[in-house]
Amino acid sequence: MRNPVLLHKTASQVQQELEACIGCNECLLACPALDEALTIDVLNRETFGGPISAPVARFARSCYQCGACVPPCPVGLHRDAMMMWLKIRLYRSGEED
Ligand code: SF4
Ligand code: SF4
Repeated sequence: MRNPVLLHKTASQVQQELEACIGCNECLLACPALDEALTIDVLNRETFGGPISAPVARFARSCYQCGACVPPCPVGLHRDAMMMWLKIRLYRSGEED
């Protein structure tokens, strides 16, 4: 049985935020943990479902939930919450191997 995990956004809220993302990349530019090129389209696509590629998995592991990606977003989205969702997905994908 999976352990319960406290998330600050529900699945539907994360999905709504991903759909609202305009792809401006400001969140990634502000991120102190991203140390390789990553396109926002790939990150958004892999955040919510499907396979997680190696670069996205590395970024998910590197994210330490500092919140620096939130204030620069011009449409008020929460990349930190999206990343937490991705971190949980990644964790669970390993757990189920
Ligand atoms: S919360 Fe994660 S993605 Fe956002 S700026 Fe911090 S390390 Fe980067
Ligand atoms: S800053 Fe906001 S709108 Fe721009 S790519 Fe990041 S989440 Fe999407």
